[in-house]
Amino acid sequence: MRVAVVGAGSIGLAVAWRAAQDGAEVVVHDPEPGSGASRVAAGMIAPVTESHYGEADLAPFMAASADAWPEFARELEAASGLPVGFRDTPTVVVGIEDGDRAEVERQTGLYRRTGRGVDVLPGRAVRRAEPLLSHRVRAGVLAAEDRAVDPRAVHEALLAAAEHAGVRFEPTAVDDLAGLDADQVVIAAGCGSARFGLPVRPVRGVVLRLRAARDQEVPRTTVRGYVKGHSVYIVTRENGEVVVGATSDERGDRTTGTAGAVHDLLRRSIELVPEIAEYHLAEVSVGFRPGTPDNLPLIGRLDDRTVAATGHYRNGIALIPATAAAVAAILGGAAPNTLTAFDPARFPRAGGARLEGRAEPREAPFPSTPGTRVPDGSDSAGFPGGAQPRAAADAAAPEPRTPGGTGAGTHKEES
Ligand SMILES: Cc1cc2nc3c(=O)[nH]c(=O)nc-3n(C[C@H](O)[C@H](O)[C@H](O)COP(=O)(O)OP(=O)(O)OC[C@H]3O[C@@H](n4cnc5c(N)ncnc54)[C@H](O)[C@@H]3O)c2cc1C
Repeated sequence: MRVAVVGAGSIGLAVAWRAAQDGAEVVVHDPEPGSGASRVAAGMIAPVTESHYGEADLAPFMAASADAWPEFARELEAASGLPVGFRDTPTVVVGIEDGDRAEVERQTGLYRRTGRGVDVLPGRAVRRAEPLLSHRVRAGVLAAEDRAVDPRAVHEALLAAAEHAGVRFEPTAVDDLAGLDADQVVIAAGCGSARFGLPVRPVRGVVLRLRAARDQEVPRTTVRGYVKGHSVYIVTRENGEVVVGATSDERGDRTTGTAGAVHDLLRRSIELVPEIAEYHLAEVSVGFRPGTPDNLPLIGRLDDRTVAATGHYRNGIALIPATAAAVAAILGGAAPNTLTAFDPARFPRAGGARLEGRAEPREAPFPSTPGTRVPDGSDSAGFPGGAQPRAAADAAAPEPRTPGGTGAGTHKEES
């Protein structure tokens, strides 16, 4: 079987790797592999602390994927010869002020519904779990089974593993699915999937990458918290990188981080972990989460020849193993019943003809901003050694904010 995969983000590469392992002849098409959200993501694998109201259908798939990650990481490292930065450390969730602690308590009810380990800890115990927490933290929740991985390392490893398995790469953007010389086509183009009539919209996020010096302490857990009603997370890598995230807004036209976003993320993370003020700010990255109208992914057949594997929104890294396994099953002729909730047919397709390509992205019924470029990927600005931070460019034109509100133009925070 000849399989064409459109998109070389982590989802497309994992699908391609699995298909090649199953004996398919695979070609991945992407003008710029790794230019999308996969290299911006923080890398949390968080079936507990990423549970959200209204997304109950995602829980079993998230749990299965999180459980598959340790073995997937081992297999990927063996196949590629590269480390993927899988961290088997828990997550603590904390709030400092009364309202923030109340929010943690409210979330705890939701976390418990996952049936996975959730422990409420008093201040001293939570600081034992994470000694770098501010002394103002008086209680917290420990999610022992949430993990993290380094998405950039995962992407590098997937590229290498896919190549070793015989996958070929075409550095071209696909416009016309019908023109692809393949028996089966998998659309895994992240936000670029909108081009093929799928209801995917870009949800912009800014994350910061900081670097601790060798003699500086770094958080041993993933820290998530609420500061004056705003959420923030801090994810640490073994190599001393500390990722702070993330904003969330629907400004698909803005590909740079703003001074306001950087300020807010730093201020909130430093309130939770004061040591962060001492780290080197290495990079401001902007990425676009491929969001769908119900926040659930689109995984399943579109027609006899075309399969969707996209729309993973906030959880595309966590969902790599389960998605790759599910698409491998679909390509192999099985129809996994666990995926009913992700069936792309739950939405009307924006112009069936668009599966043949060439249609404009984001037409009705999925709203767009006139003149807005729909990003296919992400942008990041590293400024080691005193180079001009890209965020400074945006400082001259700050994002419009709605006082006390959210919506287009404002940024809120999430993963
Ligand atoms: C700030 C931020 C933080 C995040 N944190 C987390 C986290 O902690 N945990 C987690 O699980 N997830 C997280 N995510 C979400 C995660 O990054 C995404 O869900 C995931 O990366 C989607 O992967 P993908 O391969 O589908 O898309 P992408 O990585 O965006 O890749 C899509 C690829 O398709 C290519 N492409 C587009 N159009 C075409 C075309 N027409 N032809 C050929 N190629 C095309 C692009 O060049 C790109 O390389 C985060 C996202 C952001 C933005």
